[in-house]
Amino acid sequence: MTSRYGATRADVDALLSEWGEPRYRADQVWDALYRQQIPLDDATALPRALRERLTDALPLALDALVEQTAHDGMTSKWLWACTRDQAQIETVLMRYPERATVCVSSQAGCAMGCTFCATGQAGFDRHLDVGEIVEQVLRAAQASPQRVSNVVFMGMGEPLANYDTTWAAVHRLHDDLGISARRITISTVGVAPAIRRLAHEDLPVTLAVSLHAPTDEERSEIVPLNRRYPIAEVLDAAAEFAAAKGRRVTFEYACIAGVNDSIGQADALGRLLDAFPGAGGSHVNLIPLNPTDGFGGHAPTPPSIQVFADRLRGHGVTATVRRNRGTDIAAACGQLRSREAMPSG
Ligand code: SAH
Ligand code: SF4
Repeated sequence: MTSRYGATRADVDALLSEWGEPRYRADQVWDALYRQQIPLDDATALPRALRERLTDALPLALDALVEQTAHDGMTSKWLWACTRDQAQIETVLMRYPERATVCVSSQAGCAMGCTFCATGQAGFDRHLDVGEIVEQVLRAAQASPQRVSNVVFMGMGEPLANYDTTWAAVHRLHDDLGISARRITISTVGVAPAIRRLAHEDLPVTLAVSLHAPTDEERSEIVPLNRRYPIAEVLDAAAEFAAAKGRRVTFEYACIAGVNDSIGQADALGRLLDAFPGAGGSHVNLIPLNPTDGFGGHAPTPPSIQVFADRLRGHGVTATVRRNRGTDIAAACGQLRSREAMPSG
């Protein structure tokens, strides 16, 4: 059975015409789901009987297990069970005064095994389907007074390891929800061939590459995929993307005290990225490590992250330090699920 947000416009048209409904009903359904972005129950333009019939025929794909809002009231996080098999995934909503960003999962779990990542520590369950990805955005949008303007694929999973589904979801977000391609960010651990494929797609999405270390030796320790696609190959693929799309690439760097935060490593990273040939240079997003149960490391102090950032700037590389939104609700990828799984919480 197709889920509510897995159904395409053609699926909705076919269903309603099978039921003998007039054509304008399909327009109303589509308008409620994607333009108004309201739950079907609230779509009062539709007769109650039709709403009920649709609710049964196009069921939701996600059941909320936990919904938490951080103290600032502007960050919310959901732990969902997928209705078809109870696989657990997470979504984060970050609200700003005028707009909102949703961080979505692309897989239940992840097979990439990055050592510091809660999702990587738990392993891979399965790929999500298009409806499950699109529904995360719409369920979060329904909880947000601000319009969702940005979507980042930075939740659980490696989006480029679930490529066709991720790309179909990107199209739905762009074509049906009206989100601009530049405001859709795909974050990847560095699946080089898939980055090259992305470079030649029809929508200019934003690319973020999780680098985390300046040398292959250091990176392979924390990002096992580096043994398959080493830094030079990942950067070459990212440069192809930057050239094809005329976009600046963002590099993510999880700062881990004593592992990748030395001055020497800042200089090595600065030299590496200063030489990056992409359009408009490159940008580094420094993310203070969120502690996880399966990894002993911790974040450097805020002043030492600033020193690292300044050192990068000295090499002509722009750098920002990401504010850890919602650390009090374990808003880093995979952490809510791992915490729920623990009997002591
Ligand atoms: N699989 C993709 C996207 C999901 S992870 C990727 O790896 O890019 C999104 C970002 O969160 C990545 O940069 C990832 O390295 C980072 N991340 C994962 N666990 C983290 C942690 N415990 N602390 C800080 N950043 C983390
Ligand atoms: Fe997977 Fe990304 Fe976590 Fe690595 S950081 S294990 S690629 S979700």
